[in-house]
Amino acid sequence: MIRHRDVEQLQQLSQAPGKTLTVYLDVDQTNVANRKRQFETHLKDMLKQLRAAHPDDDELTLTCGEVEEIVKTIEPTGKALVLARHRTLGVTFRNVIRIALPSFAYWSNGAFLRPLLEALDEHERFGIVLVDQKRARLFTVFLGDIEEHKDLISQIPPRPDAPTTDKLRSQSKMERHHDESVSTHVRFVAAEIARLMDQLEVDRLIIGGNVGVASELARALPKRLRGRLVEVLPIPVTATTDAILTRAGEVQMRLERAEELEIVRDLLKEVRKNGRAVAGLAATLEAINEGRVWKLVYLQGAALEGGVCNACNMLFDPADEVCAVCGKKVESEPHMVDRMARAVLEHGGHVEMVDGPAAEALRAVAEVAALMHS
Ligand SMILES: [Zn+2]
Repeated sequence: MIRHRDVEQLQQLSQAPGKTLTVYLDVDQTNVANRKRQFETHLKDMLKQLRAAHPDDDELTLTCGEVEEIVKTIEPTGKALVLARHRTLGVTFRNVIRIALPSFAYWSNGAFLRPLLEALDEHERFGIVLVDQKRARLFTVFLGDIEEHKDLISQIPPRPDAPTTDKLRSQSKMERHHDESVSTHVRFVAAEIARLMDQLEVDRLIIGGNVGVASELARALPKRLRGRLVEVLPIPVTATTDAILTRAGEVQMRLERAEELEIVRDLLKEVRKNGRAVAGLAATLEAINEGRVWKLVYLQGAALEGGVCNACNMLFDPADEVCAVCGKKVESEPHMVDRMARAVLEHGGHVEMVDGPAAEALRAVAEVAALMHS
């Protein structure tokens, strides 16, 4: 899990004088190509390419050797390894994060953090409140980790059981008292949530617990928070953190898939009317080489081959043998999609990997596509 202090350490590295080697490496074990530590082979290939682009750079050669050793000790517990090594300062940052990122290596003054910071920024923080007549629990979920923040308990007089005739009068009074207390409790919880959501920077809210009380809570939320409410779910107030995390993960996944589908639909609409988008490897490469891509969109796990001119960094179709710009020989690139993503990110663009229904819609047209600056 990546914490705030990690990002601070990284930002210091991004400003450190001298060269830093930054590596993003896909280690996702749901991808067969990464199993049996084959991501180490992928790393070796990337670093070899990087050294070829910086011949006679001894500092780079030494740093690459160190990084290869460090990666041997990494447990692939997430989707991507983020590693930054500054050899002369003796500083290493490493973290396996639960967000998929394209693989590549950078050798630059200051760590190259934009892909990570952008991914963290895009990932939404979820708040989950479980509530019943007298209890409320608040959790936040971020990057697949759950944290419980506070057990809010209001003092509620117990609701009486089956009424007896001689006590009917006082009974209904007690019930009224109870219902008023529940409303007070709900209002109290709503106010606490409003305060905590701002403090914890929660983007989306899920409410669960007792269905009646949860619905009342949804209505009692301040207007500005109602827009962030995603769903009211029947999760028991006593649920374990694992169970809550699973339910929140399902909601989050559904929202992300819906957003991806919208991006792909908009993109394909532009492609059809020859607007500000292109689809397919050749057209996308051309747009990248011209520096016109605002957002690269591709199928998660897409494996495409291509070529790169190491002299001028132009990207080519696998059939191209010589660089159309400088005439040098084009080197083959087995991880073309990562290379394309890197080029787009370096030019200030964005990348979007899609899965699920969005991937199906895109696959019908192409494996890679790009939205361009208007
Ligand atoms: Zn060239």
